[in-house]
Amino acid sequence: MSSVGIVGGGLLGMSLAAKLTGQGHQVTILEAAPRSGGLAAPARIGDYTWDRFYHVVLLSDEYLRALLDELGLTERLHWTPTRTGFYIDGRLRSLSSTLEFLTFPALGLLDKARLGATILYASRIREWARLEAVLASAWLKRWSGKRAWDRLWLPLLRAKLGDNAEVASAAFIWAIIARMYGARRTGMKRETFGYVEGGYASVLQRFDEHLGGLGVESIYDARATEVRSTNGRVQVATASGSREFDNVILTIPCSRIADVCPQLTEPEQSRLRAVRYQGIVCAALLLERPLADYYITNITDARVPFTAVIEMTALVDRRHFGGHALVYLPKYLTQQEPFWEKTDAQIEAEFLSALEEMYPHFRREQVKVCQVSRVREMLAVTTLNYSAMLLPPTGTTVERVFVVNSAQIANGTLNVNETLGLADRKARELGSLLRSPRAGSPVHAGAA
Ligand SMILES: Cc1cc2nc3c(=O)[nH]c(=O)nc-3n(C[C@H](O)[C@H](O)[C@H](O)COP(=O)(O)OP(=O)(O)OC[C@H]3O[C@@H](n4cnc5c(N)ncnc54)[C@H](O)[C@@H]3O)c2cc1C
Repeated sequence: MSSVGIVGGGLLGMSLAAKLTGQGHQVTILEAAPRSGGLAAPARIGDYTWDRFYHVVLLSDEYLRALLDELGLTERLHWTPTRTGFYIDGRLRSLSSTLEFLTFPALGLLDKARLGATILYASRIREWARLEAVLASAWLKRWSGKRAWDRLWLPLLRAKLGDNAEVASAAFIWAIIARMYGARRTGMKRETFGYVEGGYASVLQRFDEHLGGLGVESIYDARATEVRSTNGRVQVATASGSREFDNVILTIPCSRIADVCPQLTEPEQSRLRAVRYQGIVCAALLLERPLADYYITNITDARVPFTAVIEMTALVDRRHFGGHALVYLPKYLTQQEPFWEKTDAQIEAEFLSALEEMYPHFRREQVKVCQVSRVREMLAVTTLNYSAMLLPPTGTTVERVFVVNSAQIANGTLNVNETLGLADRKARELGSLLRSPRAGSPVHAGAA
């Protein structure tokens, strides 16, 4: 049995901890925040607790549904058919059925046929790796045509990626289409989303208890500041003291790994720092009344300062929020954008003005709470030839220090199901790499 330190107590670190404990390792999680969950952690929104960032479950989320089952939460998982809106040319439109798609005025009939064919074609592609060699822009223009690109794809890609839209590979858009197509795979072809009663706070509480029961030690307020390997042992310095392990696994973003691991070689450091991350600023609003009945409203109108409107209470019953509507307004950002400099008050004012323009019945006086959250490194953008050039290998040149993080998801979008799938694959791979000191043979660079 070896001791394993996992840096990062998000769902990836937690899931790895459970699996490695099952292999007989003694696992400790070191988490910088005062609690587990990372991006899925809850927040207090007025008098209510819900996810700091919006989360839904898809019917196709096999790993997540298996975890919820293991945690005894399947009975608290609820499914609701939802609708999708589009805000385009200053108007809000429903785009939730085939009929609405056919009568959608922004595109001609031929554009729609090509768009539909693109989505169907993408959903059937299994050899996704070749899409990494093509830019998303070139691929979408080729299959959907210039008009659909100008009117729909480009605004949608820019809304999701900002300036990174120019550098993302076609594998990125393929992953989004494949996941959303999966959401509609039920008999009625209607989008159906799920949520767990109490939000991710319930999931994390059960998961924490489950890990405790397995003997996993979780240490909070323990930001790792330096990770060093000496004589076959790995020391992790944290704000609350130093710990030593036989093996350490880093689940944190790539640039942070480069920061805390000075023993990495220069090429390893450069490769980690070259991974481009997308950030997010997201306002969570508690409103007196709903905006519309769409779970997601995509926005292709560049004047609107946020990327989408996510009406969580189109999915979750409003009675959980005292009859209020819970709405998230995300804005995805590259690292360089000046928007990061804005204060929360400026963002709130800008976002509420835009909402007043979009929804004639909305007045800012109806806002009970507005809370702005920011994450700089949320999602690794899959740029051209990402898997070969940038995807971080599991092994490093630093003896017994390993990387397992979400930048290793090359063929999927960032979601909990992919995160759990990654933990599953990597735990099996690590099974033959993790060693106790007495077992001898050191682990070498690029072991993955
Ligand atoms: C806006 C938004 C919407 C989303 N919507 C959905 C959705 O609808 N459905 C879905 O399935 N998924 C969704 N997700 C994705 C989901 O939240 C992630 O897939 C998942 O939480 C990633 O977990 P992780 O452990 O890889 O990363 P993280 O949650 O980022 O965990 C990393 C952890 O490391 C900690 N850390 C960082 N540096 C250090 C350090 N030096 N020392 C110690 N600890 C450190 C952090 O505090 C954090 O807790 C969404 C995410 C966002 C941001």
